[in-house]
Amino acid sequence: MSTGARNDGRMGMGFGYRRVRLGRKAMDPFEITPGVFQVGGPDMTASEDAGIYLVDLGVPMLIDTGSGVNTKGLLRNLLSLDYTPRDISLVILTHAHIDHIGGAHLLKEKYSIKLAMHELDVQAIETADRMKTAATWYNLDLEPTRIKEVLKGEEGAFDAGVGQLHWVHTPGHTPGSIALWVEAGIYRVLFAQDVHGPFYDVFGSDLDAWADSMRKLIDLKADILCEGHFGIYKPASEARRYIEDYLKNFGKMDDD
Ligand SMILES: [Zn+2]
Ligand SMILES: [Zn+2]
Repeated sequence: MSTGARNDGRMGMGFGYRRVRLGRKAMDPFEITPGVFQVGGPDMTASEDAGIYLVDLGVPMLIDTGSGVNTKGLLRNLLSLDYTPRDISLVILTHAHIDHIGGAHLLKEKYSIKLAMHELDVQAIETADRMKTAATWYNLDLEPTRIKEVLKGEEGAFDAGVGQLHWVHTPGHTPGSIALWVEAGIYRVLFAQDVHGPFYDVFGSDLDAWADSMRKLIDLKADILCEGHFGIYKPASEARRYIEDYLKNFGKMDDD
């Protein structure tokens, strides 16, 4: 089942972007917890960008790329943390929307960085489908982009050095949405990008599947939630509450 977008005041923000140049006010990249950094996002690289995270437990990996509007800014931020593009072993794309994947083409073509994505969203990016990638909404250009590592099934993990970066299939916002999680020191860090939706038929959204996915995320009992558009939530009680609030808003909260 899918539904039209609903709005609780912040829900539309993933798409209700303002095209504002960030200039001097841009936030610097920062360490969230040892081995986990935010390196891009709406307050950092471009207003069109979703959050971009770097995980380095010995094998540096990026989670999402932003919209591609300011990939130079992303690379500058990485360099400020002493990472060159060639240090990045893999870019994992959480789903096919342009605010998350628009920079992937350049990173792949110019720096030969490998891209990973769940199979159910691959076609949208490989054909640069302007509706499924939301490129039309953002009024941005998108090149067809080949995915080297196609993720299949419900979960898996990447060797990330001293630990693993896990992925879990979380369909709902799009069919091939994934979330990632990692044990970084004493904290379990969850990267869940578009918890808030929105949900549209053109994206292949499915509200019931989304609710099941959100319950999977709650069961992970993360200490820190790195979200795509609304920031970072901790401790564990706040991370859980953030997800539960959306379940409540969409009438999908269990009574238990
Ligand atoms: Zn988004
Ligand atoms: Zn999205």
